[in-house]
Amino acid sequence: MQAIKAKNYDVVFTDSGYQNLNKILKEKEYSILFILVDSNTHESCLAHFLQQVETSQTIEIIEIEPGEEFKNLETCEGVWAALSELNADRQSLLINLGGGVVTDLGGFVACCFKRGIDFINVPTTLLAMVDASVGGKTGVDLGALKNQIGVISNPQLVLVDFTFLNTLPVEELRSGYAEMLKHGLINSELYWNAVKSASYSDFDSLSELIHQSIVIKNEVVLEDPFEKGIRKSLNYGHTLGHAIESYFMEARDKTRLLHGEAIAIGMILANYLSTKLTGLNINKALELSKSILKFYDLVSFNDSDIEAIITLLKYDKKNSHGNIYFVLLEDLGKPKLNQKASNELIFNAFDFYKNLCNK
Ligand code: NAD
Repeated sequence: MQAIKAKNYDVVFTDSGYQNLNKILKEKEYSILFILVDSNTHESCLAHFLQQVETSQTIEIIEIEPGEEFKNLETCEGVWAALSELNADRQSLLINLGGGVVTDLGGFVACCFKRGIDFINVPTTLLAMVDASVGGKTGVDLGALKNQIGVISNPQLVLVDFTFLNTLPVEELRSGYAEMLKHGLINSELYWNAVKSASYSDFDSLSELIHQSIVIKNEVVLEDPFEKGIRKSLNYGHTLGHAIESYFMEARDKTRLLHGEAIAIGMILANYLSTKLTGLNINKALELSKSILKFYDLVSFNDSDIEAIITLLKYDKKNSHGNIYFVLLEDLGKPKLNQKASNELIFNAFDFYKNLCNK
C-alpha cells in the first residue's frame, strides 16, 4: 500500500512500513528506544511489533493504564519519571504503540521531555489509524475537559499495521468508524458513499478505506497545519460530541460513551444545525443522520443532560472571545466554519436526534 507524504514525515503501511521503521532506526542511531504501551497494547500488540523491529539498540518498555481517564498530566509525570530513571537523553526515541490515548499522550510527553525528543506513532486502534496518530496534535485532558493541554508537533513516522485490528474489541472498531464517516461528510461524497455502505467489521474493504481516510485527513492538515481555517472542518460533530463525551465521562448515572460514539451523536446534531444555519437540505440531513445511526445505538438525553452538555460547550478549544463556534455543512462534502448556534436550536437538534428512529 502506497505511503502517504505528510508534513516532514511519512505514513507507511503494514509490511513495507517496518522496512521504513527499521531504516529510520538504523540511520538516526538513537541512544535508547522507548516503547510506550498501555496494558492492553502491551498484551495484544507488543510481541508482534517487536518481532518486526530490527535494531541492536536497547529497548525499554513503559506501560500506562488504558483508557481516556488516564490521559492526563499525572500519567505524563509517571512516563517522564520512567524516562529519567531509565536514562533517556535527547537522542532517545519514544515509540507510541497504542490507540489515540497513547499516541496523544506519548507525543506530548516526547515534545516536553528535555525540550523535545523524537517520537514515532504506531496506532493500534481504528480511530488512531485514521485520525489521532496523523496530523501532529498531541496532548492530554484537564479533568473532564478534553485535550485542554497540548502542542502541535509531528512524529518522525506513522506506521499503520492493520494486523493490530484483529484483537481490537468491536466497540472500538465502531468508535473509530465515526471519524471515517466524518471524513466523508466534510470532504468527499464519493468517500462518504463508500464508507456508509461498508462495515467496520469487513476487514477486506477496511484497509483501503483506512488508507483513503488518512489521505483526506492529511490533505486537510497539510493545507492548514495550525487550524487557522479549513483544518477546523475536521472538528465536524466534535463541538457537541466532546461535550457529550465529557458529560458521560463524569456523570455517575451514565454509562461511558466511547469517543466515536459521542462524535456520531455530535455529527447528527450538527446535521440538524446545518439545516437551520447553513442551508443543508432537511431530507439530506435526515438521510445522512440515518446512515450514521445505522452503526450506533440511540442514546437517551433528558433536559437536564442537555443543559449540562451546553454548559460544557464553553470549554471547547475552538471558542474564542467567549463565542462557541460550530463546523456545519452547506452540503455533503462542503463544510462551513465558525457558525454560532443558540441554546434553543441546540435543544431542537437533540429533539431531531431523539425522533430519528420515527422519521
Ligand atoms: P484508546 O487509546 O483508549 O484505545 C481504546 C481501547 O483499546 C483501550 O482500552 C486500548 O487499551 C485498547 N486497545 C488499543 N489497541 C488495541 C488492540 N490492537 N487490541 C486490543 N485492544 C487495544 O482510544 P482511541 O479510541 O484509540 O483514541 C481516543 C483518543 O484519541 C481520545 O483521547 C481522543 O481525544 C484522541 N484523538 C486525537 C486526535 C488527534 O488528532 N490527536 C484525533 C482524534 C482522537
